[in-house]
Order: sequence, then C-alpha cells, then structure tokens
Amino acid sequence: MSSRRKFLQNIGAGLIPLTLGFSPDSFGFSLGNIPEEKKLRVALMGLGGYANRVADAMKDSKRSKVAGVISGTPSKIPEWQKRFNIPDKNCYNYENFDAIKDNDDIDAVYIITPNAQHHEQTLRVAAAGKHVICEKPMAVNAKEAQEMVDACDKAGVKLLIGYRMRFEANTLEIIKMRDEGKFGDIKFFQGLAGFKIGDPNQWRLDPELAGGGAMMDIGIYAINGTRYMVGEEPIWVTAQEVKTDPVKFREGVDETITFQLGFESGVVASCLSTYSMGNLDRFFLNGTEGFAEMQPATGYGPIRSATHKGRLDLPHVTHQTTQMDEMAKIIFDGKTPKVPVDGRDGLKDMIIIDAIYEAVATGTKVKLNLT
Ligand code: NAD
Repeated sequence: MSSRRKFLQNIGAGLIPLTLGFSPDSFGFSLGNIPEEKKLRVALMGLGGYANRVADAMKDSKRSKVAGVISGTPSKIPEWQKRFNIPDKNCYNYENFDAIKDNDDIDAVYIITPNAQHHEQTLRVAAAGKHVICEKPMAVNAKEAQEMVDACDKAGVKLLIGYRMRFEANTLEIIKMRDEGKFGDIKFFQGLAGFKIGDPNQWRLDPELAGGGAMMDIGIYAINGTRYMVGEEPIWVTAQEVKTDPVKFREGVDETITFQLGFESGVVASCLSTYSMGNLDRFFLNGTEGFAEMQPATGYGPIRSATHKGRLDLPHVTHQTTQMDEMAKIIFDGKTPKVPVDGRDGLKDMIIIDAIYEAVATGTKVKLNLT
C-alpha cells in the first residue's frame, strides 16, 4: 500500500492527531510531492463504437489510461496511436496479441468486440497473464462464462465486466436507501430495456456473432438491474417471446421477450427486453413504504431518478470515466465495489439468460440456483 494511501486511511480512522502538531512532513513527505497513484494501463481490443466512447471517457480518468490497441483493421491504428500517444510496440492484431504477455506497458486488456468473441479472447488474454475487462454480455451462455471465470482464476488475473451502471450515483443512492429501509420491504421491480435497432446487416442481428438478440444486448440490463435493485438473487423465471419481423429477427435472434423473476422473499419482477421500441429504459422498485424510479435508468446519462420523497437526479459524471477509475481501484487497491462487477457476477446473468431462453422454448417456469 502506498504511504499516501496509508496516511489518508489513517486520517480517516482518526489515528493521526494532526491537531497535536503532526504534519505530513513528519512522515517523510509533503503534500506537495505526493506520488501519483498507479494508473491502470489498458489495451483496448476492438476499436468500434463503444471502444471510442470508453477511450474518450478515459481521458478524464485519474486511475487509467489507453496504453495499447488490438484491432483487426490496420488502417484504424495510426489514428489511435496519434490520439493516445501509443508506440508501435503496443499495437496488436487478433493473430498476434498473445505476445502481449511480454509487454510490461500493459496491465489489462479491455475486450469490446462482438459478444461471441469474448470467450476465446478472454481465455487468450488470461493466458497472457493480463487482467481482463470484458464487455457485456461477458459470453453467449453460462458454460462459456464459467470457463472464463476459471481461466482467469487459474492465471491469477482479475476478470471484470463492463457494468458501468454499478458505479452510477443515482443507482447507488437508491440501493443505499433500499438498504436503509426507506422503501420498506421490497415487493416488486419492473425493468424495461430496449431500443429500435437499425441496420439489418449489423453483427447484433447475426446469431453467430451476437449469440442471441435483444436479450444479450439490452435485456441484460433489465436482468442485472433486477438483481442489484432488489438486492436478492431470483429463484425462478418464466418468459414469453413475441416476434413481429422474422426476416430481420431470424432464428436465434430474439426481438421482444417479456420475463418474470421470482425471489425467495416473495418479491416479483416483471421485465421486458426488445429491439423494436424507441427509448425504452425504465426501472421501478416498490416496497411496503415507498418507491424508486429511474428513467432513463441505464442509458449513457444523465440518469433521471425519483423516489416517493421527491426527485433525486444526482449530478452526471461520464459513466465510463467512473467505471475505469473504480476498476483500477479494484485491480490495484483490492477495493470491493458496492455492487460486484466481477466475472462470477456476470456468470449469474448468463445463467439467467440461459434460463430465459429455456423458459421461452419450453413454456415452463425454470428454477434458478445462483447462490
Ligand atoms: P461495434 O460494431 O461498434 O464495434 C465492434 C468492433 O469489433 C469493431 O471495431 C469491429 O471492427 C470489431 N470486430 C472484430 N471482429 C468483428 C466481426 N467479425 N464482425 C463485426 N465486428 C468485428 O460494436 P460496439 O457497439 O462497440 O459493441 C462491442 C461490444 O461492446 C459488445 O459486446 C457490446 O455489447 C458492448 N457494448 C457495451 C456498451 C455498454 O454500455 N457497456 C455499449 C455498447 C456496446
């Protein structure tokens, strides 16, 4: 632990009696020359739309920086090198990135490629001994997700999932209020997640690359939102699918699924995942004493929120900036986030997605065992 952090922790714990005449200089350093905290040096894999957003957000991150790139499109690389001052030796393609194991400039690889590639890429990054940050959905089924967790455990590296909402201020405030009992006993949650998908030729509508449809891409927000807003793991799921355009949404690509989750405590959740409705992004939590609502609940922000006591609408900070700062603290400082973002937590979402698809296919209530 850095002496600065130890010092600040001690102040927090009231252990250093500054008022009795001690100063930071008494400990061998002055506040003027505190060493910069260690930055997480990240190589981004897949330089598409979301990687650009993450990279821009990292410019404001105090604890992380873009240190490398991995891309299958060589023409993209020079612009990224210029933008982030990346040397040639930190640029890779999908064939040669295993060599990153010998690169001391890189601490972690952030995988931001089509869903079906996450599994293999995670196994390779783990084998190279680098920490993995992987976008959602972490895999296309629970079996793959479990293998990713096991591979990272075996390699002794961290596996974190790009669940940016778990660091968002409105979300965390509502979770805190729930824990303080402000809503009474939680009874009901509603999670609605969707958007109207455009270009029929994009990878999101190709089951080989997407691993599914709206559920993998956007419905996953309603699933994990249910879990962190209710604060309990579901024990069963039922689900129904509606398909209005079987050409655009071919076999293996779900357009709209409604699903219900049940909990040991008696909480029920009612959720919807869709690629056919504009701006659908709403969470609603209700207990015996009151409610919380968020709309938008998971978009890039600002998030708008209220409870039965009035509006919250906490100030907006770019989600990916906070996420990367917090992930650096998880990796380097051993910080435990309020809502987990690790591979084991991502695996639970994949188990639920598998169960939702099973419930759609069989028309039955599918039991879940997530503990
Ligand atoms: P995108 O299409 O904009 O980018 C995908 C990247 O992968 C491109 O650079 C593309 O060149 C590369 N790629 C490699 N092989 C490919 C192939 N066979 N077909 C297509 N592209 C290929 O997609 P995106 O929106 O950046 O999504 C990437 C990942 O990030 C997905 O897993 C998605 O779910 C996730 N994502 C997360 C969030 C979030 O808020 N956490 C937001 C958007 C996307």
